[in-house]
Amino acid sequence: MIDALPPLRDVIAAHDLKARKSLGQNFLLDLNLTSKIARQAGDLSGCDVLEIGPGPGGLTRGLLASGARRVLAIEKDSRCLPALEQIAAAYPGRLHILQGDALDIDPLDHLTPPIRIIANLPYNVGTELLIRWLTPHDWPPFWQSLTLMFQREVAERIVATPGSKAYGRLTLLAQWRCDARIVMSLPPGAFTPPPKVSSAVVHLTALPAPRYPADPDVLSRVVAAAFNQRRKMLRSALKGYGADIEGKLVSAGIKPTDRAEQISLEQFCALARVLKQA
Ligand code: SAM
Repeated sequence: MIDALPPLRDVIAAHDLKARKSLGQNFLLDLNLTSKIARQAGDLSGCDVLEIGPGPGGLTRGLLASGARRVLAIEKDSRCLPALEQIAAAYPGRLHILQGDALDIDPLDHLTPPIRIIANLPYNVGTELLIRWLTPHDWPPFWQSLTLMFQREVAERIVATPGSKAYGRLTLLAQWRCDARIVMSLPPGAFTPPPKVSSAVVHLTALPAPRYPADPDVLSRVVAAAFNQRRKMLRSALKGYGADIEGKLVSAGIKPTDRAEQISLEQFCALARVLKQA
């Protein structure tokens, strides 16, 4: 046992927390597993943790038992609040709960650095939240690391290498300013109810500075344009950048006949610098 609170199956029964698909609710009920996920984030003792979608609180309990200084948990489903309040009472002053949509709430008013983000994300908003965390204008961001559960397929896009099917916009956004690796794989049966697909936990650490210089907005736009038409040669996919796109690609050390998935992060950054200058 990691704490003296009731087992999660009892919590779910007591508060009638029948999982809702519309909220991406696939709960983790094994507290040894949630503690293991918390440990993937490293030493939490001096850190505030932001958790999105605590649900009945399995991962929340893992985070608190692993020594997080404070956890801010943002949950959309008000049915989960009584279960979360019970956890807050067992860890006085260490769990702060906000009810609402994580896409609408600015968590920064409630957090003190150093901050780590750890979550079993709802599938419907997971990628959008990740992109927001990866694309602030200024770097380093407000968080030190992200330890996030995703569908396996999304996790593979984050850690992909050039030339692979999974390589794309998410790969480049993540790897430009972070180290990213898959640290755990989970079969559908680890969740209640089991989802249709496998899942994986990705750990991303914010680098002190981007790997290569580039303007974030220019890089983000050119990567999006290149992968929007990933089967096309770049000279066609990037036609919108004006007449001399071939010359600009060559200046960046890129063959105009190459396709987006063949281009490394370093080359995309070089292209963003050429485009910015132009
Ligand atoms: N952390 C719990 C666990 O591991 O068992 C639950 C994870 S479940 C995959 C996702 C949770 O996110 C659900 O509790 C769901 O209600 C919540 N959720 C869904 N959309 C949300 C949103 N936009 N903002 C905050 N929470 C959301």
